[in-house]
Amino acid sequence: MSVFLFLCYNTLGDENMKIIDGKKISEKVLEEVKTDIEKFKLKKITPTLAIILVGNDTASKVYVKNKTIACQKVGVDCQEYFLDQNTSEEELINLIDKLNKDDLVHGILLQSPVPKHINIDNVFEKINPLKDVDGFNPINYGKLLIGKENLTSCTSLGIVRLLEEENIEIRGKNVVIIGRSNIVSKPLSLCMLNRDATITICHSKTVDLKEHTKTADILISAVGKPAFVTSDMVKDGAVVIDVGINRLKDGTLCGDVDFEKVKNKCSYITKVPGGVGPMTVAYLMKNVVKAINLQL
Ligand code: NAD
Repeated sequence: MSVFLFLCYNTLGDENMKIIDGKKISEKVLEEVKTDIEKFKLKKITPTLAIILVGNDTASKVYVKNKTIACQKVGVDCQEYFLDQNTSEEELINLIDKLNKDDLVHGILLQSPVPKHINIDNVFEKINPLKDVDGFNPINYGKLLIGKENLTSCTSLGIVRLLEEENIEIRGKNVVIIGRSNIVSKPLSLCMLNRDATITICHSKTVDLKEHTKTADILISAVGKPAFVTSDMVKDGAVVIDVGINRLKDGTLCGDVDFEKVKNKCSYITKVPGGVGPMTVAYLMKNVVKAINLQL
């Protein structure tokens, strides 16, 4: 009897749950970008993105590669700057100054993390806000804060689009975000607030995390720990968005969510890989288009 009930529960869970296909939606976004880029090319504008990577972080190299592949797909020229691990903050800022002044460069992206001797916030401050395709310059951050989104974090915009594509309402919903980083979770929480969600931000010092996550209509995890979100943390019927990217010892990629167990509890869920990651890259391309329009 209990085996029967278990099977029924799992089957029911699967039927009611939908995996949000970030790969497919990202391809749609890239097609939109391609059309915009063709229009720029008719006006003799060659959209150009400069990507800077400092050091040898293996994961960062993969992210940069994915971004350059997306550039090729949509027709954006990509200038890659691979700087030595020992590059000083001053040298990095000098390169940013040069790119800021170069009218042929429309977007500047500094891949994080950077080596510890560099204060990344100092460097983000130096990127021309009109070329700041990651939205991390304090001016763009401030605009996001007051609800005047300009160039805004690609991951946040990608997640909003995933929800929109599935007709998942954000307005009035309880959105719980696990993580409070400047790069991912804070801009994401502001994006959700700007779209009238009620937001809760949880972090490593949150007391009784589960108490908060159980209230989520939309639960978003950006922690960076495999199997961190377990099924007992998820309300029945919730939407679960997994931002985490973790590499296991055997080399496989996974998110923060214990996918196989959690999927039976929720209405929608994203997978890793193939969820938020491709949307981040696609919205980087969107932001290049936005940056050009701001500079025209
Ligand atoms: P981070 O290390 O800066 O932040 C992690 C956050 O998790 C912190 O704010 C911390 O407070 C919180 N945290 C840690 N332990 C916790 C606990 N026990 N309980 C509650 N909260 C806890 O990382 P980040 O830069 O915000 O990135 C988060 C994850 O998202 C990483 O896996 C990263 O690789 C991934 N990421 C994915 C994309 C994408 O496009 N999918 C983009 C950027 C980052």
